[in-house]
Amino acid sequence: MPNAIAYISRDTDGLHWKRVLEAGLGPLDYRTLDTLGNTDDIEVALAWKPPHGLLRTFRNVRLIVSLGMGVDHLLADETLPDVPIVRIMDEGLVGQMSEYALFWALRHHREIDRYAELQKQGQWKPLDFVDTIDRRVGVMGLGTIGQDTAAKFARLGFPTAGWSRTARTLDGIETFHGSDGFRRFLARSDILVDVLPLTRETRGLLDAAAFAALPKGAYFINMARGGHVVDEALLAALDSGHLAGAALDVFNTEPLPAGHRYWTHPRVHVTPHIAGATNPRTASPGVIENIKRLRAGRDLIHRVDAKTGY
Ligand code: NDP
Repeated sequence: MPNAIAYISRDTDGLHWKRVLEAGLGPLDYRTLDTLGNTDDIEVALAWKPPHGLLRTFRNVRLIVSLGMGVDHLLADETLPDVPIVRIMDEGLVGQMSEYALFWALRHHREIDRYAELQKQGQWKPLDFVDTIDRRVGVMGLGTIGQDTAAKFARLGFPTAGWSRTARTLDGIETFHGSDGFRRFLARSDILVDVLPLTRETRGLLDAAAFAALPKGAYFINMARGGHVVDEALLAALDSGHLAGAALDVFNTEPLPAGHRYWTHPRVHVTPHIAGATNPRTASPGVIENIKRLRAGRDLIHRVDAKTGY
């Protein structure tokens, strides 16, 4: 019976994953990209950005685990074997994502960059203040991360709305869904937080029309995927002053190419895809549970629907 676990990633936490999985499952036949051996033995592939076509060669693989909460890196490979895909669920990562959104939103909301400039000039100058109850936050994506993020903004007193594919009802959050609700959602979002998955439907969603639909002076935070954004449209909206600024963690091309306008744009903050990082310690309980369920023939948790793409 194939029972090897393969860690298919160029990240450096392969040994950490081995330790935490063995703590829950006992000694494992554990392989990495450099020690794959006979791939017929591989039962479970833990993958982050696997080389295109590689998973197809694992003839007996029964489960693919995405080592990130996003799964576009897997579904981009149209040769994937026809086996269940699950993703990690990492509470620590979810909290980091909310922190990222809150940090940039509050920095914008409280004019911290402008005060830093005034400090450089030695100027004591209180600026006009927008009250929290007048600053509307919109969270695109009301999944695991979006719900946590939206709830935290609402808790701080920001009028908060969320947008999803299907209708959702959430305490204290105004909800919109589908293409019908999209423009209305944008029109009431002074701070827009993107935490959607990258799918066929969401690629290129944030185009010139979407940015134009935001209120003048809106702020944009992208901690989801760069592929949602038409870069020329975002840059034009920033150049014209229609958008006050953007904090971008993710890009159409990563690493962000040298010389890209985002690097030096005065209204843009760039971070290198660090909004949330998987920690094997907090992510492993769900993976262990799924491997146990697989071996016992029980239903899996945190399954990905290849049809919707998330
Ligand atoms: P979930 O799968 O839990 O939720 C996805 C949400 O997006 C759901 O609310 C879903 O709607 C909504 N959605 C999907 N497609 C559409 C659509 N076409 N129109 C409107 N809404 C849509 O995702 P998570 O919250 O776990 O993660 C979201 C994304 O965050 C990941 O896919 C990943 O790309 C990104 N991410 C980025 C990280 C970083 O470090 N920058 C780290 C981790 C994740 P519905 O509720 O109707 O299903």
